[in-house]
Amino acid sequence: MGSKVSALDEMREIQSGKMRGSRCSIGLHLGIAETEEKDALISALDDFAIDSATISSWLGRRGYKVARHTVARHRRRECQCK
Ligand SMILES: [Zn+2]
Repeated sequence: MGSKVSALDEMREIQSGKMRGSRCSIGLHLGIAETEEKDALISALDDFAIDSATISSWLGRRGYKVARHTVARHRRRECQCK
């Protein structure tokens, strides 16, 4: 019994560690980008006529590699960003 509980606690601890994780690459970039670039990126993320692959390439041209799926995940708000 007792050992079952501690194993479960361990899993909960691992899970909560994940939840405390830092922001994704998009969030981190938004935190350091110049205002103009940041505004463009925020607008692009909200504009679904611009796909995630385009945003990924746009960032890549600026020397900031972010995978397309990371952009998509951020848009779906499945990352740790607020
Ligand atoms: Zn994010």
